[in-house]
Amino acid sequence: MARTHQWAVLDSRPFKDQTSQNLSAMKILLVEDSPTLRHALSGDILHAGHTVVIAKSGEEALQLVESERVDLILMDVEMPGLDGFETTRLIREMLGTHWTPIIFVTGKDTEDDLALGIDVGGDDYLTKPVKRVILQAKIRAMERIMAIRDQLHKVNLELRDLSERDSLTKLYNRRVFQVLAEDRWRQSMRSREPMAILLLDVDFFKGYNDCYGHVAGDECLLQVANAIFQCVNRPGDILARYGGEEFIALLHNTGEDGARYVAEAIRSAVAQLQLPHRHSPVANHVTISIGGSVINLTTGTALLEQINSADKWLYSAKQNGRNGCMIRLYNPQNNLLVMDTNGEIGKAVDRALHGQFNVLNVHTLGTAMRLVREVQPDIVVMDAQLADNQALALAEQLHSQSETAQIPILWIIDQPTDIVRLSKTKYRIDSYLVKPLDERKLIAKVEGLLS
Ligand code: GH3
Ligand code: MG
Ligand code: MG
Ligand code: MG
Repeated sequence: MARTHQWAVLDSRPFKDQTSQNLSAMKILLVEDSPTLRHALSGDILHAGHTVVIAKSGEEALQLVESERVDLILMDVEMPGLDGFETTRLIREMLGTHWTPIIFVTGKDTEDDLALGIDVGGDDYLTKPVKRVILQAKIRAMERIMAIRDQLHKVNLELRDLSERDSLTKLYNRRVFQVLAEDRWRQSMRSREPMAILLLDVDFFKGYNDCYGHVAGDECLLQVANAIFQCVNRPGDILARYGGEEFIALLHNTGEDGARYVAEAIRSAVAQLQLPHRHSPVANHVTISIGGSVINLTTGTALLEQINSADKWLYSAKQNGRNGCMIRLYNPQNNLLVMDTNGEIGKAVDRALHGQFNVLNVHTLGTAMRLVREVQPDIVVMDAQLADNQALALAEQLHSQSETAQIPILWIIDQPTDIVRLSKTKYRIDSYLVKPLDERKLIAKVEGLLS
């Protein structure tokens, strides 16, 4: 089945596979300032069945190499402006790891010149005048090495494919998913975009194998994978085979509604394949169940937690009768205790963190300490201006007990000078913010304290 896949961004340089092509049809760049020699060498190149591109100087050669692909370069050394050695050095820099053969054709005939030519990146060195038969033989020798280079590149691509892709479905494997997804996760954190994780599992697949056999089971999985692949196609999305008959999708920059839409599209696409399944109690064809976890802000959470949450919802979808989707907003495990006078700071914190934390808002020392013991908050946000020095009293109590001493405190102060007063106390100042609270700064502080 013809299909295109998204590829990991490993080697993006487009590569011409020349092993399967007619080896004699090369585009050869001739860098030569003398019109007479240009004419003669061009004739030799054309005679060997290649096409020729001319550069009259080193500068022109650089422009050509940058703008078009050439297969081999014949390089003069003595030219006005950039000489052939310098031009070669610059071309090597420009091409990076991609090797294009460069043969010097020059009047400079000392051994030192030859050695220097090889050192700056040349592959062969011919002195003028060059007989046609010798030039053409040298070009053939380079062609042979290029063919090996291309073969090697092809094998490398195949090896990469083998190590990154599941052999049956050609989707990413679990290991690659983890690497790519972690990367996307950090990206979402930076750009403050939502993201969704979908876990997809074929219903009653054991029964399918038992009924139709493993070979048919594999063919079924392939078709299901293709159907899913057609629905998960936005740039940035990552789809992988997660295990036996389980798949996983990361939906980039996708909120709750979007995730529901995609999940339902997948469920329906799989159902519409109408692959007969006699042993399924829920339908007469193959169906899939989908659990999804959507996160609005990756701050204060981990990818693995979100995957576990999607797994939980997949289980619910199974319990709920299968052939269905269960997509929920991720309910984070982080607790944040806010102690303030009238709930204003608590509200601001809740707004800024989009429900990504359980915000526990308290106003008295007694309640604060009870909750600290019960829920072990990840961060305490404290209004430094609380009456009766209650803020300092809470800090004192937190610091005096080993199980709470490590909980970071984010102090909210009225004006920058307050921090001077606070830092004269014996309490650790983990972090502070000046009123009025700015959402982005608040998020940054919380992120900083959690990392
Ligand atoms: P449920 O609806 O609860 O998911 O039921 P299920 O039968 O799909 O669940 P279970 O996890 O018990 O069975 C999964 C089966 O998938 C077990 C195995 O026979 C089959 N399976 C896993 N990987 C492959 C594979 O690569 N090829 C084939 N043919 N079958 C596979
Ligand atoms: Mg010259
Ligand atoms: Mg399963
Ligand atoms: Mg299953």
